[in-house]
Amino acid sequence: MSKQKIDSLKRQCPRLGSPIPFNYCVMSGEDDGICWKILDCWWETFDVEEYLKANMPEDAFRQLMATADKPKNKIASILEIVEKAKKAKGEEPR
Ligand code: SF4
Repeated sequence: MSKQKIDSLKRQCPRLGSPIPFNYCVMSGEDDGICWKILDCWWETFDVEEYLKANMPEDAFRQLMATADKPKNKIASILEIVEKAKKAKGEEPR
């Protein structure tokens, strides 16, 4: 699959709740970097790990893989959803 085609792939974003293109995921993280959920969100659509390995600086890729601890990310994701729900209800986060 070409880079152009990959960049235009879309999926429902679990964080935003709306469809977004892949190229948004590579710039929606901290400091306009890659979203920490990118591997979790895209592995079923294409070989995102191989794509990122080929298109990211080696250090950045290694750092992403080190933080891609799936159980930790799932827990962080659940906590994020809980905090969003609390904010939506007007409660203070703990
Ligand atoms: S990688 Fe991040 S921005 Fe992209 S769909 Fe997943 S949660 Fe949303």
